[in-house]
Amino acid sequence: MKNQGANTKPRAARSPAVVIGYEKYSRVCGHVDDFKIIKGEPPAYTTGRRAKWDKKLCAICKVAADAKIKAEAAERRAASPRPNQQKFRLPSGSSFAVSYVAVDASHGHWSGTLTVPGCEPITCEPRDGVHGLLRRLGFMWWSTQK
Ligand SMILES: [Zn+2]
Repeated sequence: MKNQGANTKPRAARSPAVVIGYEKYSRVCGHVDDFKIIKGEPPAYTTGRRAKWDKKLCAICKVAADAKIKAEAAERRAASPRPNQQKFRLPSGSSFAVSYVAVDASHGHWSGTLTVPGCEPITCEPRDGVHGLLRRLGFMWWSTQK
């Protein structure tokens, strides 16, 4: 496919950014870092880079923040496994009644009822597959047990 983007100038023809110095500015975390001064950069570009700079953490704080986010996510996962990772067990004597309704020659829906001894029967909206229907009914029953 032909390049139809706004910048059609070949990469080699563009002059690379030449860093002519650094200025010390503090990041949002409060740490002072080196801000590149680029030769011939339009002031609007410098202002834009500074605006981004002011919102970002320094490299050390960024690594620490990322590690903290990962640790918190791992903690959350360990505390409550997602429903599809939970074991799917129902009480002894549970039964499903399912029926298939054809929408057309190649497509249909399954609907059904879960009956657990001592509980009201549970029904849910029709599903494309039997497995998904049974799982949904099972999880609906489990949610009534909490
Ligand atoms: Zn920092």
